[in-house]
Amino acid sequence: MSLVTSDGAGVTLRRSVGTAQISELDPFLLLDAFGTDNPDDYIAGFPDHPHRGFETVTYMIAGHMRHRDSTGAEGVLVPGGVQWMTAGRGIVHSEMPEQSEGEMRGFQLWVNLPSSDKMCPPRYQNFEPADVPEAETATGARLRVIAGRGGGAEGPVEGIAVDPLYMDVTLDPGGRHAQDVAPGHACFAYVFEGTAEIGGTAVEAHTLAVLGEGDGVELASAGGGRLMLAAARPIGEPVVRYGPFVMNTRHEIQQAIEDFQGGRF
Ligand code: MN
Repeated sequence: MSLVTSDGAGVTLRRSVGTAQISELDPFLLLDAFGTDNPDDYIAGFPDHPHRGFETVTYMIAGHMRHRDSTGAEGVLVPGGVQWMTAGRGIVHSEMPEQSEGEMRGFQLWVNLPSSDKMCPPRYQNFEPADVPEAETATGARLRVIAGRGGGAEGPVEGIAVDPLYMDVTLDPGGRHAQDVAPGHACFAYVFEGTAEIGGTAVEAHTLAVLGEGDGVELASAGGGRLMLAAARPIGEPVVRYGPFVMNTRHEIQQAIEDFQGGRF
């Protein structure tokens, strides 16, 4: 279910949410898995571009990425680190490789904002790898918890409208983990190494598994695997998206374009 696609200025990536097949999993708007060891694929990076009306979450597995934005914030994302950016009423930023060789791998997730928060002031939550707690279970699972709770650990991201769960789960061969998910929340798993059984269904690497209704999910792997697990409360509002702007109405999109072109981000 994962398409190999390309975005930005030539960064090789696989998009699984935000495609013609799965345009959104309310409140998730997009999931990109980027990964390559060919510098030609990532050296162009993502030069200055705007966002309005939602949040972008960047989680690095390998490689170094420098971000700069219109608020004056700047930093380098390193493997195991995460940036939860609430674009709100608007931000212009760049995401550029801080390396000229080696592997670049990670995820970008887009999370929608409710209409009441779409024009909030932009803000960042940046966490170094050491600030992302890791729980090792007695059942052969290691959880790096970015947001929400799992395995006794609590993620550092806070104050997010849709009450998200987001974690990087490594399963040893024969490992398993039973994860609570809030009832009514949208939930998906994206397997990116090995194979995992998600709710009893075998899922190969580079595959998105969309969970149905429930209050939890059973994760297991016979041969070992690694996946991102995400869940959050649906917003249930109209979604009108135009590139890097995600609003509720066409009029608001037009306003976003005018504000950006008028230098008001
Ligand atoms: Mn961006």
